[in-house]
Amino acid sequence: MTSVDCKLCRENIHSYVRGYLSLEERQRFKEHLESCLECRREVEQEQKLTDIMNGWEVVKVSKAFDVNLTTRLTEEKNRCPKQSWFKRFFASN
Ligand SMILES: [Zn+2]
Repeated sequence: MTSVDCKLCRENIHSYVRGYLSLEERQRFKEHLESCLECRREVEQEQKLTDIMNGWEVVKVSKAFDVNLTTRLTEEKNRCPKQSWFKRFFASN
């Protein structure tokens, strides 16, 4: 099933998984997931990647490194809030 909903859904998966969506957007997202297996799978994939990323972020090499990483991630987020940087990283390979 591919619909406008799916397209919207895919564009917002990263924001959904990371908790950037508003309550209303989240609700609509969930409703779509309940009726769409494909998007549910996409969300699961994104969730796994996010978990891996979170795992990396937890590893503290040094305080300074941590601050730099957080700053970089925040800057990245502000520049392009709807697209994850690691997705672009994978896409460029
Ligand atoms: Zn869908």
